[in-house]
Amino acid sequence: MDGGRVDQVLLAEPRGFCAGVDRAIEIVERALQRFGAPIYVRHEIVHNHFVVNNLKAKGAVFIEDLAEVPAGATLVFSAHGVSKAVRDEARERGFQVFDATCPLVTKVHVEVAKLSREGYEFLMIGHKGHPEVEGTMGQLSDGIYLVEDVADVAGVNPRGDKLAVVTQTTMSVDDAAAILAAIRQRFPQVREPKKQDICYATQNRQDAVKLMAPQVDVVIVVGSSTSSNSNRLRELAERLGTPAYMVDSAQDLQPQWFDGRPRAGLTAGASAPDILVQQVIERLRSFGATSVVRMKGVDESVHFPLPLGLGDRSMREVTSSRS
Ligand code: SF4
Repeated sequence: MDGGRVDQVLLAEPRGFCAGVDRAIEIVERALQRFGAPIYVRHEIVHNHFVVNNLKAKGAVFIEDLAEVPAGATLVFSAHGVSKAVRDEARERGFQVFDATCPLVTKVHVEVAKLSREGYEFLMIGHKGHPEVEGTMGQLSDGIYLVEDVADVAGVNPRGDKLAVVTQTTMSVDDAAAILAAIRQRFPQVREPKKQDICYATQNRQDAVKLMAPQVDVVIVVGSSTSSNSNRLRELAERLGTPAYMVDSAQDLQPQWFDGRPRAGLTAGASAPDILVQQVIERLRSFGATSVVRMKGVDESVHFPLPLGLGDRSMREVTSSRS
């Protein structure tokens, strides 16, 4: 092999699928089983190419605009959530809708709607153009201002004094804290959520990288380029001084990344399936890795129920009606 030899692999814990991603994929799979192909999905169900291609092969059709969905179709909203306008259009056109919005994103939508009725305007900490940000900001027709970094805070001009802050669930914990500090300084009266909006999975995966990065020479993040939380993991490792690369699959690994860097750290974004992690481990073994050590980390036991009509009982009904 050209390039460096890997000696040891440290596996971050936790890594990979979160409860919201698990649920979203299961919703599409169950909808396909129950209603048959095609099932239309607005936006990539989760930001992972392997997952999306797999579902495409089973009959899911991914669209960005509801104009592409024929009358009478079954439609799934992606885990990132949708704006009120999209939800209203889907209802008006009479689609059968299954909502795969992560319940932790829905919680933010509910908070925005509730506080808006109380007269609040909002600062949203997030990344422009991300579907979750579009969905959350799209809960209101106005009065919600995006702040992407500390510098943006100075440019916000709310109409009144009642201000609340909401955050994209997959932000960098450290960036969000710095932006929030700037918001507090400029708007000391700002209302903050009782429990921060950055989700448990984002927090835990970032904490695990903080623990792992100083112990390795290079960090590999399994995740697609569109995945916000995967990108944040790679950036975090780099900020901690460890070179880091994101790969969609084992084939993307470049031997020269390991030149003089025998200790590799491995993690995966919340939308990256474990099979891809296992394939990356196999490739690292072919680069010479003899030991794969799983780090200690937080145990995750979060599970979200499926929407009505796709739950366990429905599946039993499907199974028995076919037998
Ligand atoms: S990363 Fe967090 S908010 Fe996004 S789907 Fe997973 S649990 Fe939900």
